[in-house]
Formats: sequence, C-alpha cells, structure tokens
Amino acid sequence: MNKTVLITGSTSGIGLGIAEAFAKNGYQVMFHGLESNGLEIAKAIGAKYNVKTDYSNANLLDSDSIKRLIEDSISKLGSLDVLINNAGIQHVAPIEDFPEEMYEKIIAINMNSVFYTSKAAWKHMKAKKFGRIINVSSVHGIRASEFKSAYVTAKHGVVGMTKVMALEGAPYNITCNAICPGYVKTPLVENQIKDQAKAHQLSESEVIEKIMLKKQAVKQFISVESIASMALLLAADHATTITGTTFTLDGGWSAQ
Ligand code: NAD
Repeated sequence: MNKTVLITGSTSGIGLGIAEAFAKNGYQVMFHGLESNGLEIAKAIGAKYNVKTDYSNANLLDSDSIKRLIEDSISKLGSLDVLINNAGIQHVAPIEDFPEEMYEKIIAINMNSVFYTSKAAWKHMKAKKFGRIINVSSVHGIRASEFKSAYVTAKHGVVGMTKVMALEGAPYNITCNAICPGYVKTPLVENQIKDQAKAHQLSESEVIEKIMLKKQAVKQFISVESIASMALLLAADHATTITGTTFTLDGGWSAQ
C-alpha cells in the first residue's frame, strides 16, 4: 500500500477513528484539526502502524489556508489519493434565536470547506487519474430535525455537491460519495446532549433516549468503526463504479 489520505477534523471523534483505520490498513495519513495535541496524535498513530503521518491545523474558515492544507498534504506525503471531508460543527437553536454568525460559520465549515478542499485537490487527482472523495454528511443530509437549520442546510448541500463531483470526476476515476451517519457518541454529540438537556429541561439520559435515539429504529449510537469500514470500502481501487451516492448508517432512521 502506497496510498495517501487526508482526513479533515481527524484529531477528534469520527475523523480520528477513520484516520486510525486507514493507518492500520497501510495508508499514509495527513491528520488535520484544531485540537492542540494534533501533532502528538499523528506521531503516535504513525508509530503504532509504521506508516508516514503528518499534521496540519489549517482553519477551514479560510479558503487560502485550505489551499495550503492540500498543498502541504501533497508535498509532505508525496500525493493525495483519498480526501475525506469530515470536519464539522453543530449549533442547536430555534430559527428566530439562531445567532447569524454561527449560521455563517456552520455553512462555511460544514459545507463550503468541502468545495474548497475538493477544488484544490481536483487537478492533482485528475492528473493521476485516481481520486476518492468521501464526504461525511449526516442523516441530517437527507432528513431534517427542528432547531438545526444551519446544520441540516449544510449537510443537504454536501449531498448535492457529492453528486456533482461524481459526475465531473467520472472521466478521471475520481469518485465522490457521502456517508450519512445517525448519532455517534463523539465530543460534538456530548456537547449537544448538554445543550439539549438545558433547552428541554431534561436529564442527559432522557435527552439520549427521548430525543437523540428516538428516530433510530436501532437504539444504539452508530459506531465509529462502521463508518471507518465504509470509508475504506469507498476508497478502494476496485470502488471505481461506486460514486455519486449516499450511504446511510443511521440505525434505520431514514427507513421510516
Ligand atoms: P468532533 O467535534 O469530535 O470533531 C470535529 C473535528 O473538526 C475536530 O477535529 C475539530 O478540530 C475540527 N474542526 C472544527 N472546526 C474546524 C475549523 N474551523 N477548522 C479546522 N478544523 C475544524 O465531531 P464528530 O462528531 O467527530 O463529527 C465529525 C463529522 O461527522 C462532522 O462533519 C459531523 O457533522 C459529522 N457527523 C457527526 C455525527 C455525530 O453524531 N457525532 C453524526 C453525523 C454526522
């Protein structure tokens, strides 16, 4: 295996789990995220699986930083075969109270950054006639919930963008797919549990039971391992014809 992967937001939560799975499978990994121990995480996982790793803390709110992130990934790892757009944030509030700055930030990080990273990687992937772009959307990319106007908008946008990239990438063996998980217990969700508990005057366990897992037929958080396995499949050489679609890992939420 001499393939390289960049995973945005891979120093926490789902991205970290995906990054470790790719390292375990022999990929060279560019870690990315705002966590202060990012470099240590990259080094530790690199040493554990004996693969080359590096780390960037590029801010996805800035398109120039995103361009540099892609350039750095290519120059430090020698190539960029797989791009996993995973970084994201959340804010839960009714529309009339939704802070406008937060709305703009969620659209920028969760949606616009997917365009900027992919645009910057495109020329390289096109020239190599190989590219795998995997967007971590959400079940909220295909379903709505109240109080998540920015997040649901951004995640639906990512699903649309995924389809366009699949069409434009097809002649160059660049595939693009979206993974749409239900709830995964990560720092992003831990914060939401606290916010929802406050907003609805419920205990944290009541939030999990009555709000979060209410719409999932399987009353369990989605495992990071299942998301990582899906990403590995989509990244494979043989996955050329799997493109332009969404893979829901949502415990049966969208079956209803
Ligand atoms: P997380 O909070 O654990 O990790 C988010 C990562 O994004 C972190 O590494 C953080 O540093 C990075 N990030 C945030 N803002 C950034 C910025 N401006 N610039 C650079 N990096 C930035 O979250 P998670 O739960 O692992 O979520 C990962 C992705 O999965 C997100 O896109 C999220 O919307 C999606 N998702 C999560 C769930 C869930 O239940 N946790 C469900 C469906 C989809």
